[in-house]
Amino acid sequence: DDKAVTVLGLGAMGSALAGAFLAAGRPVTVWNRTPGKAGELVARGATEVATAEEAVRASGLVVACLWDHRSVHQTLDPVTGALAGRVVVNLTNGTPGQGRELGGWAGEHGFALLDGGIMAVPPMIGGPGAFVLYSGPEEVFTAHRDALDALGESRYVGSDHGMAALYDIALLSAMYGASMGELHAFAMVRSAGVRAAEFAPLLQRWMAMVGGFHERTAELVDSRDYTRDVVSNLGMQAAAYHNLIDAAHEQGVSPELLAPLYPLMLRRTAEGHGHEDNAGLIELLFTRRSTT
Ligand code: NDP
Repeated sequence: DDKAVTVLGLGAMGSALAGAFLAAGRPVTVWNRTPGKAGELVARGATEVATAEEAVRASGLVVACLWDHRSVHQTLDPVTGALAGRVVVNLTNGTPGQGRELGGWAGEHGFALLDGGIMAVPPMIGGPGAFVLYSGPEEVFTAHRDALDALGESRYVGSDHGMAALYDIALLSAMYGASMGELHAFAMVRSAGVRAAEFAPLLQRWMAMVGGFHERTAELVDSRDYTRDVVSNLGMQAAAYHNLIDAAHEQGVSPELLAPLYPLMLRRTAEGHGHEDNAGLIELLFTRRSTT
């Protein structure tokens, strides 16, 4: 059946992926290292098999959603023979380098690989909010797009196998920065006895406002000119930033989530960029000149 899909890994995410393929009317074969996790999927029509090899042989399209890069190799290295001629879509989180390594490894063994990054939590899979990044051979993506669209909006980001992980990690990095800032803010108000729920509406409003500047920042980053239309210069922000650290200490809150930014601000200011937008801090982040 050329609509058949195999899902390797039935953790929270793999189970959601298999469920979305079932909901899209595809024949689904599932395998998990530890048996006994497929009950609900089997009740919905999935076929559970005992070995990764049987799972791979059941479908032309094999989706892997495991723990890490190492577990992908542990699972697939013994079955490369069965994979020849099939397509593997790896949706296990990894680095760009790991994505490229898998792409090369697949090529050596005669099967095609798309590496992906899931930008959703399991309950969102198959719903309108989810999107999934893919990289690898474009014709392979195009051929399987219809199946992959069952998971969420499919976004192809390039033939370089590392690109999906690169975008995924970039988006996650922004998320962690924002959510750690959020936690620090809650710690600050809780240190004064204010309930998080009471503060949350203000936080929501503020983050909606400050989250609206990505395009302006992108323009500055692309032009590498951080002097245009500056309304809050870096020097001023560096001077005030110490108050964030002092206030945390005053309140008995650790500033460790915020602290790393401060030396960067001081360095950029000392290098003569205090009059510029703080987006110029990006120039301090590159550790390899050739890629900038
Ligand atoms: P879970 O912890 O729920 O599941 C982990 C899965 O990996 C299980 O099926 C587990 O099998 C399997 N596994 C672990 N080690 C091995 C191994 N050595 N060999 C074979 N299988 C192994 O994690 P999730 O399902 O939530 O996450 C899976 C992937 O999806 C991760 O890479 C994660 O980063 C990514 N992801 C998850 C999101 C989420 O919100 N949950 C969001 C976006 C991406 P067993 O049952 O035998 O232990």
